[in-house]
Amino acid sequence: MTSRLVLLGPPGAGKGTQAARLSTQLGIPAISTGDIFRSNVAERTELGQRAQRYMDAGEYVPDEITNDMVRARLAQPDSAQGFLLDGYPRTLDQVAELDAMLAGLDARLDAVVELTADDEVVVQRLLGRAAEQGRADDTDVVIRRRLEVYHEQTAPLAEHYATRGLLRRVDGIGSVEEVTARVLAALNAS
Ligand code: ADP
Repeated sequence: MTSRLVLLGPPGAGKGTQAARLSTQLGIPAISTGDIFRSNVAERTELGQRAQRYMDAGEYVPDEITNDMVRARLAQPDSAQGFLLDGYPRTLDQVAELDAMLAGLDARLDAVVELTADDEVVVQRLLGRAAEQGRADDTDVVIRRRLEVYHEQTAPLAEHYATRGLLRRVDGIGSVEEVTARVLAALNAS
C-alpha cells in the first residue's frame, strides 16, 4: 500500500525522530522541510540565503519559497511510492498548495498524524537540544516565537484535517519506541 502521510505537531514534539523511524518501518522517504532548509543554509545555496533570516528569527519562510521546494522534492522518483512529510504543510495556504500538487500527481493524502505535547515539555526538550546540538534557532526567545507561530498558523491545520477525516492524534509524551508504536497503531486502525 502506498502511504502518503503528513506529520503535524509543535516544534520539539519529536517529529524528526519519529519521521526517521517511520520512514524505515514503512519504507517511504521522510521529507523534512526544516532539514532541507538547514542543509541549504549550510551549503550557502541561494535558497538557503533566502530562507535563513526567517529561520533564525523563528518565523516561517514565505510560502512561495517553501512550496516550490516541496513541489520539486515530491516530483523526485522516490516519492512516487509514498512519503512522510515532516514540517509541511504549516499554513492553510500550504495545505491548499499540497492538495494541488498531489492532484497533479493523481494522488491524495492517506492520513495526517498529529503528535501532541504541552508547551512546557517542548520548551524543555528544545533547550536540551540547544545544549547538545547548538541549532541556531534553539534559543529561549526564538523557541518561544516558534511556538507562538505554531499556535497561530499551524495548530488550525489539525482541525482542518479532522474535518476531512484524515487526522490521527497521537500522544507524543513517552519513550521514542512507545510513540512510534502508537503512531503505527493509529495508522493501522485507519
Ligand atoms: P521546528 O519544527 O523544530 O520548529 P523545523 O526543523 O521543522 O523545526 O523547521 C525549522 C524552520 O524552518 C522553521 O522555524 C521555519 O523557519 C522553516 N520551515 C520549515 N518548514 C517550513 C514550512 N513548511 N513553511 C515555512 N517555513 C518552514
